[in-house]
Amino acid sequence: MTIIHNLGFPRIGVQRELKRAQEAYWNGKASAEELLATGKALRERHWEVQAKAGVDLVPVGDFAWYDQILEWTTLLGAVPARFAQPSDQPVSLDTLFRMARGRAPSGKPAAACEMTKWFDTNYHYIVPELAPGQTYRIAREYLFEQVQEAQALGHRVKPVIPGPLTWLWLGKGDAFTQGADDTAKLQLLDALLPVYAEVLARLKALGVEWVQVDEPILALDLKPEWRDAYARAYARLAESGVSILLATYFEGLKDNASVLKGLPVQGVHIDLVRAPGQLQDVVSLLGQDQVLSAGIVNGRNIWRTDLDAAHEALASVRAALGERLWIAPSCSLLHVPVDLAAETELDAELRGWLSFATQKLDELRWLAKLLDGRLDSEAEQGLAAQRAALQARRTSTRIHNAAVKQRLEAARDVSLERRPFAQRISVQQKALGLPAYPTTTIGSFPQTLEIRALRRDWKAGGISDADYEKGIRKEIEDVIRFQEKIGLDVLVHGEPERNDMVEYFGELLGGFAFTRNGWVQSYGSRCVKPPIIFGDVVRPAPMTVAWSSYAQSLTDKPVKGMLTGPVTILQWSFVRDDQPREATCRQLALALRDEVNDLEAAGITVIQIDEPAIREGLPLRRADWSAYLAWAVDSFRLSTSGVQDDTQIHTHMCYSEFNDIIESIAAMDADVITIETSRSNMELLDAFEAFQYPNDIGPGVYDIHSPNVPEVEWMVDLIRKAASRLPGERLWVNPDCGLKTRAWPETEAALKLMVDAARVLRQET
Ligand code: GLN
Ligand code: ZN
Repeated sequence: MTIIHNLGFPRIGVQRELKRAQEAYWNGKASAEELLATGKALRERHWEVQAKAGVDLVPVGDFAWYDQILEWTTLLGAVPARFAQPSDQPVSLDTLFRMARGRAPSGKPAAACEMTKWFDTNYHYIVPELAPGQTYRIAREYLFEQVQEAQALGHRVKPVIPGPLTWLWLGKGDAFTQGADDTAKLQLLDALLPVYAEVLARLKALGVEWVQVDEPILALDLKPEWRDAYARAYARLAESGVSILLATYFEGLKDNASVLKGLPVQGVHIDLVRAPGQLQDVVSLLGQDQVLSAGIVNGRNIWRTDLDAAHEALASVRAALGERLWIAPSCSLLHVPVDLAAETELDAELRGWLSFATQKLDELRWLAKLLDGRLDSEAEQGLAAQRAALQARRTSTRIHNAAVKQRLEAARDVSLERRPFAQRISVQQKALGLPAYPTTTIGSFPQTLEIRALRRDWKAGGISDADYEKGIRKEIEDVIRFQEKIGLDVLVHGEPERNDMVEYFGELLGGFAFTRNGWVQSYGSRCVKPPIIFGDVVRPAPMTVAWSSYAQSLTDKPVKGMLTGPVTILQWSFVRDDQPREATCRQLALALRDEVNDLEAAGITVIQIDEPAIREGLPLRRADWSAYLAWAVDSFRLSTSGVQDDTQIHTHMCYSEFNDIIESIAAMDADVITIETSRSNMELLDAFEAFQYPNDIGPGVYDIHSPNVPEVEWMVDLIRKAASRLPGERLWVNPDCGLKTRAWPETEAALKLMVDAARVLRQET
């Protein structure tokens, strides 16, 4: 019979129980015992869900108090010196929390470890801190304890751990950079491998048959030194005698497939959703006794699987490998919501198209029965419902909108060109009459408790539309008056009507659906609820024009219209899988183009289209970058190219490095780009300087993530630094990002000083 296994289950709980428990513990409202009990109950429930669904090997080690990489880093005892970890003591839970957040109920606060994105997902892991000569030891027992916990419940377990090379790749330190460019990190392998071997031997002693060792970096561009290290590393791990399933995901192995040749592991997991084409190549590299785990159910998206297609894709491999073929989700189910059963408000039709973590396990069970030729009535029924749902989805008129498709076709002829920047900017300058070093902000102002309550009450039907509108207008008016008072040049309306920069637009566009409990962990206790783009995107009516026009009516200064860009909306949603991402992105771009044009017609002369996610959309392999960037840039231009010369287009990006994509950023051809730079001391401008970026640019002059009020001299200095590298007449003065997470007192103080800084600079010119 085909073995079903799972690479990881979402740990957060269907009601975000883990989040609540973590936060209560951090805030001193719950004891450590209560926190531990919640974790235990969640693990128990999740193992049970998986076992009941027919998963033969349930994962252990996928549970984490904050992040699974941090769990492993602390198990290895790799605790930075500032956390004062005694080298002969176990690492405590509070030390783990201090590493993640800088503080915990006990222990001295210290600077938190860095956090960054997990490959191309929206999950963030805590970056291991590496140092030359670092030593490792087994400093936590959680993995062994959880194995025993699951065994005691009668489960057949498969521990999941990060592989040694992936763990090193993820890490960084003063002497090491993150990623594959730094081969010096491989020096640490010799110290690391004995501890891995010890962990595996202890697992074996507990009766564990299989351990899943995650090596997702095998889906990336790797230097030969990294590839070569695999043979050495896995030879050492093999000594333990436990069977190793080497797991890769998020992309194909491609040129790294050669690593598998002769590698002493007992099985390999590959992602056949992202890279279906690699199946035969990998099969041909397998040894006589090696298992192939086919990641055939999408762990990154929420659509029902076409099981007949999956069956067809695997049938010949099943025949060739027999029971050496296992099936699984493509990657850990961490990246999808827990259970569709919690979605009581989605209509039945739409619900029928979806599959969350729990449902994906049913799919695997039915697929296994299909592959084994042992369909019973349960599987027959499940498959029949599955086929009906897929068929309905293929033909649903809710998805397919002929007018949108026609328009998309016609959009091929729409010009993406505006007149050259040099000509536009002089027209704009005349029309806007801005001083040198114009000042502006990024869009949002503090989202006070009152604003949040107003939106919440209105959504719940507690207050009338008229009262809601009055409340929001009052906010807008206050924000406009404040900006006028302190002398900002290009104003914003403050975004009080938006809870989230993607959800707000999704709710006003056709083709989007929203879940009630579709939470996915982003980092630590933070979860996001991505919208679902299920159909052709339409804009039934203007989305922002009324609020922006109202704001503009209050002042003679220009007020920026404020939109979220097509790539960012795409990137932060669950996207339909029945057409290329590119097509969905262009549909979004067309909807936004209409909005841009309507804003212009309503007299809005400056329009900002935020694209903070453009960089994170980059494919994992460099060879795929240019194709992505081409359609991402085109989508932005499709949104913006319909305006007149005198309408000024801004864009904003944050948390980005720009070096390797500067050409594409320039190709977006926004009149003004504002970026986050203050924390890097303007270092992020390197790319713009080297490229001789031609358009206007607003390098952020203060960090909005901190409540600290910046000094005038410091901001003046930063802009002077920028002006030594880019033409002064191209520079704007603005904060790093939106102000919605800040409180009013520091916002007022900081912006006043920022305007003072611009005035100092103007006197110098
Ligand atoms: N306009 C948005 C804001 O100010 C931009 C947010 C972002 O860049 N993430 O909140
Ligand atoms: Zn930002």
